[in-house]
Amino acid sequence: MSQLLENFHSVQQSVAQAAIDAGRNPAEVRLLAVSKTFPAEDIQQVFQDGQRCFGENRVQELTEKAKVLDKSIEWHLIGHLQQNKVRAALEFSNWIHAVDTPELYRRIQNIAGELDVHPKLLLEINISGEESKFGFTPEAAVEFAKTLTQEGPAPLVGLMTMAPFEASPEELHKIFGGLRALRDQMQEIRGIPMPELSMGMSGDYPIAIQEGATIVRIGTAIFGHRTYPLAAE
Ligand SMILES: *Cc1c(COP(=O)(O)O)cnc(C)c1O
Repeated sequence: MSQLLENFHSVQQSVAQAAIDAGRNPAEVRLLAVSKTFPAEDIQQVFQDGQRCFGENRVQELTEKAKVLDKSIEWHLIGHLQQNKVRAALEFSNWIHAVDTPELYRRIQNIAGELDVHPKLLLEINISGEESKFGFTPEAAVEFAKTLTQEGPAPLVGLMTMAPFEASPEELHKIFGGLRALRDQMQEIRGIPMPELSMGMSGDYPIAIQEGATIVRIGTAIFGHRTYPLAAE
């Protein structure tokens, strides 16, 4: 078996085990394989092994891969999305994880309505308050939730966050638990279910699963180390 498939199987098992250890049903935790920077051939290999959800953080790279790969792949755009790339993003993205301003949210709704597409949206939240990060502050997210009592063409199904790489286990529990509590609060305000919590990456997913993650975004542990730096999009 290839190293890639060995990695993939071991991540699948360890995600399921983390769910069981947390007293959760493993079927409630979706594994998103983050394939950014890796070639379509690698995605194809993991796809043939049964994986259906792949994450990319640049619109152009997602589009190029989607065009040559199987139509049944569910594409998740996980990186920062610029306003001028929304239309291109909506061609293939089934999920958009990093909706980080009210303006971007409205633009996605407008264009999704026009194109009659219905991608699932997640708001990106900057829970830890890091200066360098994109995302709503928790306070801004609560204020925004008050304006979202009706669903648009693209349903807002939950929240996403990224923890700082250097965070301790205690800090990770606070960040991921904080995202879950914020989701509960926003759901209450909106009166619309927001079941999804996209949190946890290669280095921190077991704690995210303990705190209720429904989607873990895992790249390195499956595909290996990325060899070139990524420009923010
Ligand atoms: C690259 C990326 C990941 C995957 O990170 P790994 O540490 O390689 O597992 C997850 N989420 C986002 C938003 C990313 O950009």
